[in-house]
Amino acid sequence: MFVYPVSASVNEESTAVTHPFLDLAPLSAAHFASIEDRVARLLSTEQDVVITQGEALLPLEGAIRGAAGPGTTALNVITGPYGQTFGDWLRDCGATVYDLAVPFHTAVTPAQIREAFAEHPEIDFVSLVHAEAATGNTNPVAEIGEVVRAHGALFYLDAVASIGAEPVLPDAWGVDLCVIGAQKAMGGPAGVSAVSVSERAWTRMSANPHAPRRSYLSLLDWKERWIDTGRKTLLHAPAQLEMLALDACVARIEEEGLDALMTRHAKAAAATRAGTLALGGGLEPYVYEAADAAPVATTLRTPAGIDASELVTKALATDPALPLAAGGGALAKEMVRVNHYGPDATRDTVRAALTALGAALTESGLSVDVDAAHRTATEIWS
Ligand SMILES: *Cc1c(COP(=O)(O)O)cnc(C)c1O
Repeated sequence: MFVYPVSASVNEESTAVTHPFLDLAPLSAAHFASIEDRVARLLSTEQDVVITQGEALLPLEGAIRGAAGPGTTALNVITGPYGQTFGDWLRDCGATVYDLAVPFHTAVTPAQIREAFAEHPEIDFVSLVHAEAATGNTNPVAEIGEVVRAHGALFYLDAVASIGAEPVLPDAWGVDLCVIGAQKAMGGPAGVSAVSVSERAWTRMSANPHAPRRSYLSLLDWKERWIDTGRKTLLHAPAQLEMLALDACVARIEEEGLDALMTRHAKAAAATRAGTLALGGGLEPYVYEAADAAPVATTLRTPAGIDASELVTKALATDPALPLAAGGGALAKEMVRVNHYGPDATRDTVRAALTALGAALTESGLSVDVDAAHRTATEIWS
């Protein structure tokens, strides 16, 4: 871990106290543009990449409000809580929305998307969440992209929980609006985010009289006043610390290698899944099929009569630093989330999580085999 200098140095003449987070030189437009280019390379995309100055909900909402309006007919796929939110925004924009909800323990199939197009051929916008950290599932975007492209609809993807953990390839998959954030598998800051925008998506937004303009939510402002003018002058003072952190974050990924980072997440997910089954005590993977389980985080279902929030509290009592959480909302009773992402996508964190969950299950009167869980996790890692 990086440790900041402990003692601030005092300038005796002015008595100004320096601090590593403060008094930084301004972030230049050229540096800002170079960070965008770096993120574009991470996504293997030729599309325009806009780095948005806020948490990922900013470009997620900005992209929907920019591209959708009263003339839009949207297919909104719901595989977790975010899909619900996107549907609300789309309706708020005046779009006609068809929700396609699938149970949280599985993924949506390309056939289901094809059926929705057959039923409502007027669909011209598809919103999908790639991986859901909150429910632990991941959707087959490459195959779904083929179906969406064949139909000709604009394709909007929330890849916040997949980027860094599994491939995210907007160009190869025909994604028109691909939103990412750095705070999950990338191990980066939460206060800036990015969206790649296809030519088709810009055309749709430019033609949309309801698209936000002169607004913090406006992607078109960045298109017209930043991209189209050669990225010379920033629209406003950037979130400097977060931009520097994003730059460092992507540099670190380049150093480790994106493939190595994704492998770490795949192993963490496989080891958590198999280790949980070896642990016993009635704890089970929440997502039925391993192929539908997200590499970013593994969700577990507690045995009957065991409250997930209470189990997590007991597990965290042994090690409060572990990335364990109960599910959100109604899932808090039955779902445990193992958020093995970013710096926590390691063998040791997975083993420690299994130890803590084993101790919590034992305390709840269930019998477990922590050694077997450790052996299984270690085998998957090696
Ligand atoms: C994490 C996540 C986001 C960003 O939300 P935060 O809760 O602020 O981190 C957006 N979409 C998905 C699918 C996510 O998993």
